Amino acid sequence: MAKKDNPYKGLGINTQAIHTGTGYDAETGAVRRPLHMANSYKLPDDLSQVNYSSTDILMYARNGNANQHWLEEKIAALHDADDAIVLASGVGALHALFWTLLKTGDRVVYPNVSYMAVYRMFHELFNRKFGVETVMVDMTDTEAVKAAITPGTRLVHIETPDNPTNGVTDIEAIVKIAHENGALVSVDNTFASPFNQKPLEYGADFVVESLTKYINGHGDAQGGAIISNDLETMDRIRYEAQVNVGAVISPFNAWQIFRGSVTFPLRMQKINESSMKIAQWLELRDNVTFVSYPGLSSNSGYAIAKRQMKNGFGGVISFGINADDKEVERFCSALQIITFAVSLGHDESLIFPQPSYDERIDLYPEKFRKGFIRFSVGLEDVEDIIADLDQALKTIGL
Ligand code: PLP
Repeated sequence: MAKKDNPYKGLGINTQAIHTGTGYDAETGAVRRPLHMANSYKLPDDLSQVNYSSTDILMYARNGNANQHWLEEKIAALHDADDAIVLASGVGALHALFWTLLKTGDRVVYPNVSYMAVYRMFHELFNRKFGVETVMVDMTDTEAVKAAITPGTRLVHIETPDNPTNGVTDIEAIVKIAHENGALVSVDNTFASPFNQKPLEYGADFVVESLTKYINGHGDAQGGAIISNDLETMDRIRYEAQVNVGAVISPFNAWQIFRGSVTFPLRMQKINESSMKIAQWLELRDNVTFVSYPGLSSNSGYAIAKRQMKNGFGGVISFGINADDKEVERFCSALQIITFAVSLGHDESLIFPQPSYDERIDLYPEKFRKGFIRFSVGLEDVEDIIADLDQALKTIGL
């Protein structure tokens, strides 16, 4: 596939979110492109040049579909990148990237705190099934990463801010060490979103976004993307992982995410502002044991976050309350506006406890091991969110 054509390159992120990938419908002149649910497309008359494992022409929905391609134009634009591949989920995108890049005997360095599926892939699947050497490291500790990246390392995978502790990794510093040792760098950018952070600017080779979160933003579709300027590898991902493993996005989900993404920068701006206020409010509460939010100057990752997260610090606040697992559940159930559910980046605020019996709890810093809650700030009025947190804390006597 060729580099994505972006006539809006250099314009602001709101303009990009509204206009890239948008077009008139050729048949009717409608100002929105239609949803094409068809799973196959009319073939050219001369079949001699058709490669059935390629994504070059619209042929079969798994080889690429029109709504996927339009969304890919927009996702590439949001990252000022040459290319994006949109797949069925964030995990589908992570897997497609790792599956394409790694082979038996390769070494991958990955963070001790990351989205659960990344932990599963590297802690028990890629190593045991395929003989990939997987090395877990505290990615927020640049010196520890330096020691772990030996020559021969194929990939360093970063997640910043990380899920669920909100730890911050210095992308530029890790890229420098990795590249000096001939390793590639991928960054899971889901928590930050391209409104706040564009890892390709700091030299990362690949970025992954769960589109399920902020970019769609309405809690009603699942998708993931790989973003890169390395067109050759991107084509390999299309061939090896999209067409031949098959986690392509459905046209409907692509259409839905495309629609949600139009207001993505506006939503993100509001979410950044509200999150900062809520994090500051939480920090002043007596029975809140810690607040991990990259925008708080008290946070260990603040200086790095301020440098690499240019427009704000995102919408996830990780915090602790002076309560045991049962009391934390009672607190979450007592909330009346904030929804007690997994996921993040929706229009509505979402809250999710991280219990002390979580199998990875020992990998988190000490303070996260009791009363730990992950909170995704939504678009409700910030005063109402704060009042809801306040009343639920009081309900459990805090
Ligand atoms: N990466 C991060 C940081 C996430 O938080 C998530 C989901 O919560 C994913 C990846 C996976 O995305 P999806 O649920 O779309 O597969």
